[in-house]
Amino acid sequence: MLNRLFGAFSHDIGIDLGTANTLVYVRGKGIVINEPSVVAINQRTKQVVAIGQEAQIMVGKTPSHIVATRPLVDGVVSDFEVTEQMLKYFIDRVHRERFSLMPRPRVLIGIPYGVTEVERRAAEEAAINAGARQAFLIEEPVAAAIGARLPIQEATGSMIVDIGGGTTEVAVLSLGGIVASRSIRIAGDEMNEDIVDYARDNFNLLLGERTAEKIKHDIGSAFPMKEKLERPMRGRDLVTGLPREVIINDEQVRQALSKSITAIVEAVKVTIEETPPELVADIMERGIILAGGGALLRDLDHLISQATQTKVFIADDPLTCVARGTGVVLEDLETLESVLLGSALKR
Ligand code: ADP
Ligand code: MG
Repeated sequence: MLNRLFGAFSHDIGIDLGTANTLVYVRGKGIVINEPSVVAINQRTKQVVAIGQEAQIMVGKTPSHIVATRPLVDGVVSDFEVTEQMLKYFIDRVHRERFSLMPRPRVLIGIPYGVTEVERRAAEEAAINAGARQAFLIEEPVAAAIGARLPIQEATGSMIVDIGGGTTEVAVLSLGGIVASRSIRIAGDEMNEDIVDYARDNFNLLLGERTAEKIKHDIGSAFPMKEKLERPMRGRDLVTGLPREVIINDEQVRQALSKSITAIVEAVKVTIEETPPELVADIMERGIILAGGGALLRDLDHLISQATQTKVFIADDPLTCVARGTGVVLEDLETLESVLLGSALKR
């Protein structure tokens, strides 16, 4: 009863708790927070020094007693307490900035498909401890597909490939549920590591992760391109120990990324193989939809299209698909309640 009364006044919040980025959607407002999932902690005092954007700037640049970590490794809550603090910070911020007089919000969190019951409870409890009045969970591929406006509740097959920081999740959906899926721990982070490894093995150059990520953004690709691109990259020479700059080109970056990209393409192919033929026919007609930041890697859509002999489209604004999907669900909880996971924890 009290909950219902609260509900009339409070704003519901949808959270995409990604390994790389956390987005917060407020019902009726849209996306109000979009920041890296990073927390900087002072190891001496065990206190949180910074969260989000502010903490991201510190990655790789902190004095030894301050550690900037990403609490969600491979998409699951690997550091429960830190995740909770991060969630609390974001929920508080929305709450404080927007509706300080309102009761605590109901929170819908996107979690990776196939996480264990224990991990689900961890996510729900983190939200409750972080100040949510009630916590709901939705599987990320479902939220991403809803965000991409795929007709997942119809009796037709839709295929979504969400390439994030820690995981790539491939899912075929029909009638509101997941029919076939694959989740692999190879995505954007692994691509950054590929570039670090390549620079070490081929140039004896030690790169920072953020430098590798920038190279990936600037000249990374999945398919030979017409225009040739190159970029300088700076790091430490492993032989002399001194700073050094090396020019790397798109061909070399493609070579560096090839193993991870092949693994992603394989995951898509295997999922199609496991999909009932009627749904495969639907997917052929509608195409495969790419979401997540990894969808923006140049020509990855072309490569997947060629490998699967199927049309491939990149979702509009792929980085915000999951958050927008939680938003669509929040705006229409009655109709879409069936896509939510398990029981909601209340307090
Ligand atoms: P998560 O859901 O795990 O937080 P995101 O969907 O936010 O992940 O995607 C983050 C990943 O996308 C990062 O690894 C980032 O490097 C990558 N990414 C973002 N933009 C691009 C781009 N233009 N090209 C290649 N990768 C990109
Ligand atoms: Mg994601």
